[in-house]
Amino acid sequence: MCAQFSPEEDAMFEKIGAAVLKRLKKTRNPGDLLSVLASAHKEFDRAYASAPAAALATVACRAGCGTCCHVPVGVLAHEVLIAAQYVQKHFSPEELEALIARAAAHREAVTGRSNFERTLLKRPCVLLREQSCSIYEARPEACRSHHSNNVDACRTNLENGREDLDVYIPGVRGRMFAVMLAIDQAVAEAGFDGQAYDFGSALHEALTSSLCAVRWTQRQSAFPESCREASEPGDEDSGVMRAEGYFQ
Ligand code: SF4
Repeated sequence: MCAQFSPEEDAMFEKIGAAVLKRLKKTRNPGDLLSVLASAHKEFDRAYASAPAAALATVACRAGCGTCCHVPVGVLAHEVLIAAQYVQKHFSPEELEALIARAAAHREAVTGRSNFERTLLKRPCVLLREQSCSIYEARPEACRSHHSNNVDACRTNLENGREDLDVYIPGVRGRMFAVMLAIDQAVAEAGFDGQAYDFGSALHEALTSSLCAVRWTQRQSAFPESCREASEPGDEDSGVMRAEGYFQ
C-alpha cells in the first residue's frame, strides 16, 4: 500500500484494515461503533509487542517525559470522540470543568494559525497532567504511534519547532504507521469522517456539544471547520483521509 512499507507491514495494513472495515459494516447499533474503533486501538499494542527486540531496546520514551505532548496533535473525529467518552466516564465534574477551560484556551490560541505557528507555540496538550497522559488508555493514534530513540533530540526538535533530528526507530515506526493507516483508511471506507482535526480544539467541541457524536454516526463532518488541523501551504486538501477501496 505504502511504498515505504516492508512486506510484513503491508500485510499488517491489509489484515487490520479489512478486519476493522468488516466490523464497522456489521455493527448495527450506532452506539457500538466507537467501541469497535477503541478496540481496534489494541492493535497498536500488538504491533509494538511483536517488533524486533533489538529495535525495542532502543526506545528512549519513558513515563513522565511528555516532550512529544507539546506539539500539535492531528486526529480523525473518532479519536476525539473516544477520548471525550473516556473523559466523561473517568473525570470528576471539577476535572471536567478545568479541562474544558484549558481546551477553550487552546482553541482560541491556535485558531487562525498555520501548523508551523502552532508548533512554535509549544502548548502542552490539554490532557497532559504532571508530564503524563491523563487519558492514556484512550489516547489518539498519533500518540500511540510515536516512539523515539533519543530524548535529547526530541527536546531539541521541540525547541527549534522543526523535526530536524530523526528520532524514529526503524522496525517500530513502520509497524505503528501501518496500524494507524489501516484503521483510518477503514474508517474512511466505511463512510465516516476522514478529515484531520486539531485534537485540543475538537475535544473542546466534543465536550461542549453532544451533536458531534450524532453527526459522526450519521457519517457527517463531526466538527466545525474551526477545529480542522491547519492545512499545509499550497495544499488545502492535505489532512483528509479518502476512501481508496483497499479493503472492499
Ligand atoms: S493525548 Fe496524552 S499522549 Fe497524546 S499528546 Fe495529549 S497528553 Fe500526550
